[in-house]
Amino acid sequence: LTQACLSEIEKADALGAFVHKTPDLALDMAKAADANKNGGDLNGIPLGIKDLFCTKGVPSQAASGILEGFKPEYESTVTSQLFADGAVMLGKLNMDEFAMGSSNETSVYGNAVNPWKRGNSDAALTPGGSSGGSASAVAADLCLGATGTDTGGSIRQPAAFVGITGIKPTYGRVSRWGIVAFASSLDQAGPMTKDVRDAAIMLKAMSGHDPKDSTSADLAVPDFEAALTGDIRGKVIGIPKEYRMDGMPEEIAKLWEDGTAMLKDAGAEIRDITLPHTKYALPAYYVIAPAEASSNLARYDGVRFGHRAKIDAGDGITEMYEKTRAEGFGNEVKRRVMIGTYVLSAGFYDAYYNRARKVRALIKRDFENVFDDGVDAILTPATPSSAFELGSMADADPIKMYLNDVFTVTTNLAGLPGIAVPAGVDKDGLPLGLQLIGRPWEEADLLNTAYALE
Ligand code: GLN
Repeated sequence: LTQACLSEIEKADALGAFVHKTPDLALDMAKAADANKNGGDLNGIPLGIKDLFCTKGVPSQAASGILEGFKPEYESTVTSQLFADGAVMLGKLNMDEFAMGSSNETSVYGNAVNPWKRGNSDAALTPGGSSGGSASAVAADLCLGATGTDTGGSIRQPAAFVGITGIKPTYGRVSRWGIVAFASSLDQAGPMTKDVRDAAIMLKAMSGHDPKDSTSADLAVPDFEAALTGDIRGKVIGIPKEYRMDGMPEEIAKLWEDGTAMLKDAGAEIRDITLPHTKYALPAYYVIAPAEASSNLARYDGVRFGHRAKIDAGDGITEMYEKTRAEGFGNEVKRRVMIGTYVLSAGFYDAYYNRARKVRALIKRDFENVFDDGVDAILTPATPSSAFELGSMADADPIKMYLNDVFTVTTNLAGLPGIAVPAGVDKDGLPLGLQLIGRPWEEADLLNTAYALE
């Protein structure tokens, strides 16, 4: 299996999915898996690892120039758990720099490409972001599954754009230790796989309490795969009216209706619900995420990790910091750091950061209210469109790019689990995904509802 994946990877350089290949390591790990009679469910299963995960002795750059040459001396908790289960690492996967973006175009390596094409057009499409390399690699069968991370949609949006499954678990289900931090109160890792069953198997191996992450929950990890009965009779599915945006493309509206009908046919009760603060989610996210990013990224100073700029005679340490950060960070990362420091500054803290935190609490309460009323899961589209053309949005208009996250940021702000499953195609045959949002810690139930949609 590992050899087959390695040879597919060699043929697929044009996709730009892998930014660092580890074939020798992969074959060693595969041999060890063959010899291991006590391996877990993932024994011998070849995976791709997003470049945001620190992997011991293997370049881990978060697709940023500032981490050039950085090889961690430790393994992230997620990857060590996957490897302990017997999984094989094929290499590191492309992504937006520091996971900031929705198209994979902010990567220092250049973007990954979506294996799908629009109708007869040859134009290259985005695989989504930030976990674009993970999405592209799984969709093109370069690996059997991949790790992703999701701060505002970076697992679910790329999964939807390439027609695969991706779940962002409840905040705290998966340890963040050893994953390069973007916005610590929003970041969660999760699996990106061909189908719901694979997601269940991989999520189980990734989950669990980790004393090294104080926000990781000390809760038992259910057998997510065993929960996949496909029986959702009597489950209450909420359809939130605020997600029916003005100008929603007809094919997205139809996808949503078809998904609703499928769940109804499977015996679920469909209920119209309201999540009144939804329209404030995107602005709140784009205050909170940059604020936390600006603080997290302060550590890249040319001293502790990766790249250090050449300095001129007479330069002091301040010039060294400035030149290193000016050279090492890309434009989107600089934009986030500037927004973040601005909204946290003494004069504007109350107007922006503090207000965004209050809005976040209201968004969380909206969800609590519908769950208290008996709703088991919420169905929405995963993205406002199918995959767009590379080059059509990047840099030209950051706000337009941010609007891509309109359906996904709410779950991160509320800490809830969300899953994207392939559910149809647009008029050109490109994949479209639906999203299900679940109650906290009820990933087993959520996966089972997604399984019924598959
Ligand atoms: N696209 C969003 C952003 O740029 C989400 C990214 C993510 O989930 N890592 O912030």
